[in-house]
Amino acid sequence: MSAELKAAVRIARTSGASALDEPAGKKLLASYGIRVPASHVAKSAAEIPSALSTLKPPYVLKVVSPEVIHKSDFGAVKVGLKSLAEVERALAEIEATLDAKGIGERSWLIEEMASPGLEVVVGGVVDPEFGPMIMTGLGGVFVEVMKDVSFRICPITRSDAAEMLSELRGAPLLQGARGRAPISTDALIDILVKMGGEKGLLTESADEIVEIDINPIIVTAEGATAVDARFILQHSVEG
Ligand code: ADP
Ligand code: MG
Repeated sequence: MSAELKAAVRIARTSGASALDEPAGKKLLASYGIRVPASHVAKSAAEIPSALSTLKPPYVLKVVSPEVIHKSDFGAVKVGLKSLAEVERALAEIEATLDAKGIGERSWLIEEMASPGLEVVVGGVVDPEFGPMIMTGLGGVFVEVMKDVSFRICPITRSDAAEMLSELRGAPLLQGARGRAPISTDALIDILVKMGGEKGLLTESADEIVEIDINPIIVTAEGATAVDARFILQHSVEG
């Protein structure tokens, strides 16, 4: 298990959390060589100007709170923000929504917006019988409505990863069907192996992490960026 993984799990457990927060999850992905957007965490609105100073617009603003799991359901993700003024306005809007719902604990993740591309999901579960299993599918309706996903028991090789993608009913979209630009399947295969390969994050973390959800990864012709990440911890045995 990597030092980054140990540290992230220890910090989350110390605070009594049952999951890593998004900034910690993304730091962990980056430590395994998976690209994530450049970002900063701000504790309050006052820290936004300095957080923005090293980032390139357009920006994405998200709330970080253990009480907010599906951020979009709370209106707590704002994309395509072009200036400090737009970020500040978005933050005020999210605060009003959270206040109305009685959600107190929060900080802010401000990050660069990934270039538009195909949204892909990579996930992992630890099966009591088979151990860590990796999953992938195309984002949105493909996964949620059509359940168009493929699974493998870890560890996987590059050719397993390529097979997982070609098994998807939506696979033609990876090749640029329906007027879309083809995307880098190599970048996606890299991520699958960095997660589910022999030294992969999912493979190595099965003692500590029960579930991983990277939803979505945005894939373009040039590469792949994980723009959301959720890691759920195993129940602590020592209580
Ligand atoms: P949720 O908790 O609702 O799943 P996400 O972090 O996945 O929140 O953000 C919701 C959507 O916003 C994503 O599915 C993606 O389409 C878009 N998005 C989020 N972050 C970025 C980013 N950095 N760049 C581009 N699009 C993003
Ligand atoms: Mg998401």
